[in-house]
Parts: sequence; structure tokens; C-alpha cells
Amino acid sequence: MSDMRALYQEVILEHNKKPRNFKILDPCTHQAHGYNPLCGDDYTVYTIVNGDTIEDISFQGRGCAISKASASMMTSRLKGKSTDDAEKLIAAFREMMTGQEVEKDRIGHLKVFEGVSKLPSRIKCAVLPWHALHAALNGSQDTTTEGGKDEWDNDANSGKEEQ
Ligand code: ZN
Repeated sequence: MSDMRALYQEVILEHNKKPRNFKILDPCTHQAHGYNPLCGDDYTVYTIVNGDTIEDISFQGRGCAISKASASMMTSRLKGKSTDDAEKLIAAFREMMTGQEVEKDRIGHLKVFEGVSKLPSRIKCAVLPWHALHAALNGSQDTTTEGGKDEWDNDANSGKEEQ
């Protein structure tokens, strides 16, 4: 367990220091802005989708190490994949962050974020970039981890109240 924790801290710190795909894609086909008022994480996710392939994906903005590492790993993982794969991975990540057991082969090395699901005040940091990507792929341009606008917020809030 402590090995896993050390690994998760190391991976997150490394991605925070050297975020992958940390740039604006202009032009892009889809983009969405995401904001987490609890922490101040504020990012825009950009994608270029051709047919159903994510040809390029990036993010820009600012926030804590967990949100930045999450966005960095999400974009590295999904570049070149299909939008279907993206939605499946978004669902798997979300399940993991709401405390459900997710098989390693669905989530891969994003498993390092499992430790964050035990820290209620940081869950929304990890989920924010995924939330923004989901919004972008579904044609919405603005999203927040607050407000209960969709089923995601309701799930993420249930049983995970802070303090
Ligand atoms: Zn944060």
C-alpha cells in the first residue's frame, strides 16, 4: 500500500512538473472550459477530432498538481484513440474516483489516481479535466464540478461530502 502511495505521488509530481500536451490547439474541433471552485483549478481542454479519431488533444490553464497531472495523463493516453475509447475511459476514471472497483485493464496506469479517491477534497481536482473533455466531446463549452447540472455531479457528490 505504501509502495502504491509513493508511486502515485511520484507520477503525479512528475506530470505536474512536466505536463504533456500543455498548450492551446488552435484551430480545434472541440473545446470546453472546466472550473473547480473548491480548489481553483481552471483548465480548457482542446481536441481535434477527425471522424471518430482524436487526432490531437491538449489542455491549458492552471491548478493544483493533481488536476494538472490528471489532465496531462488523460491527454497522453487518449491521443490517437477513438472518441468511443475516450468515453469508456472517462466512465472508468469516474467510477474509480467515486470509489468503485475498476479492473486494471480498463484504467491502465491511471490507477495511480486511485489513492486520490480516498481524499474527498481532492477528487474534483482529479476529475475536472475528464469532466471538461466529456463536455467538449458532447458539444458543451463550459463546465464546472459544482452545480449538479448533469448526472456526473450528482454521482460525484453522493456520499462524498467533505468533512
Ligand atoms: Zn485542485
